[in-house]
Amino acid sequence: MKKAIEDLVRVNIKNIKPYGSAREEFTGEADIFLDANESPFPTEFNRYPDPIQQKVKDKLAEIKGVKASQIFLSNGSDEAIDWLVRAFCEPKEDAIIICTPTFGMYEVVANINNVEIIQIALDKNFEPNVKEILETKAKLVFLCSPNNPTGNQIKKETIIEILNDFEGLVIVDEAYVDFAPYSLVSEINNYPNLVVLQTFSKAWGLAGLRLGATYGTEKLIEYLSKLKMPYNVGTNTQKMALEQLNKNTIQETVNQLLLERKRLEKELLELKNVVEIFHSDANFLLVRFIKAKEIYNALAQKGILIRDQSNKPNCENCLRITVGTEAENSTLILELKKLV
Ligand SMILES: *Cc1c(COP(=O)(O)O)cnc(C)c1O
Repeated sequence: MKKAIEDLVRVNIKNIKPYGSAREEFTGEADIFLDANESPFPTEFNRYPDPIQQKVKDKLAEIKGVKASQIFLSNGSDEAIDWLVRAFCEPKEDAIIICTPTFGMYEVVANINNVEIIQIALDKNFEPNVKEILETKAKLVFLCSPNNPTGNQIKKETIIEILNDFEGLVIVDEAYVDFAPYSLVSEINNYPNLVVLQTFSKAWGLAGLRLGATYGTEKLIEYLSKLKMPYNVGTNTQKMALEQLNKNTIQETVNQLLLERKRLEKELLELKNVVEIFHSDANFLLVRFIKAKEIYNALAQKGILIRDQSNKPNCENCLRITVGTEAENSTLILELKKLV
């Protein structure tokens, strides 16, 4: 049987009275702002940003087909991972489940918050072990889909199965969803224990802005909003994100990267030192080489950086390669050919 979100959240969080920032307490119209100890002299940034980022949320809600009140925005989605652990996990008492190999931040955040980490390995096809997840007691399970560093999107039926029977929250990290076949954002009204994380750092090309979006039930968003620092998303970030959302041109760059991924995969497969390339639904490829360390070092010598994943479970001799521009990928292939 599943628990309601009110029963999962930490009691102190449920009862917290949030810090009321100046701009949140007053909702009418005003011309003279002497309420927040800002400088009255105009620079582009003398005023505090909108603490609830209403314009960005409204536009995002329209694009994603959800209500603005079902969106929480943060300083990158890394920040949201931290708020989720802090809101739901009692230090030294509660646990999170991570499905390894996966994104490293879940573990770091749990360690910072003194929360137990239960690792349940992905199978040989990098799909989660549903039975073991459902038999494990934990407040949160993190499912990275498409998964970093393996690249595959988890099967939708598998996630639905977990959503149906897991007692805690199911957090689906969709950082790479714009490159993948489906998103679960459209399911947030059907599964109250579903939380979806997305970011502007990958397909949107805005990693330097720092903006992440969390989608979930209004109750969940309310808890996260109570916890967050009042002005966690800066003026410039809100402005630039809104501009990009209005343009909404990511599909072109996504298509371009998907074509490049295909070409890169084909070229890599022709190399003698490549053992296998795993299926990718993201903007990177996980590639198994004969001797990954040698390849990694030789490329680094040439000023080409990729990511060594060979110490992760089931990733022996694997390197993760981000799909770059056509020219960058061609240079990479050229250097790899010299190493054969
Ligand atoms: C890159 C990445 C993120 C996010 O990052 P932010 O830049 O903090 O929004 C989150 N999850 C995964 C799996 C990632 O690869």
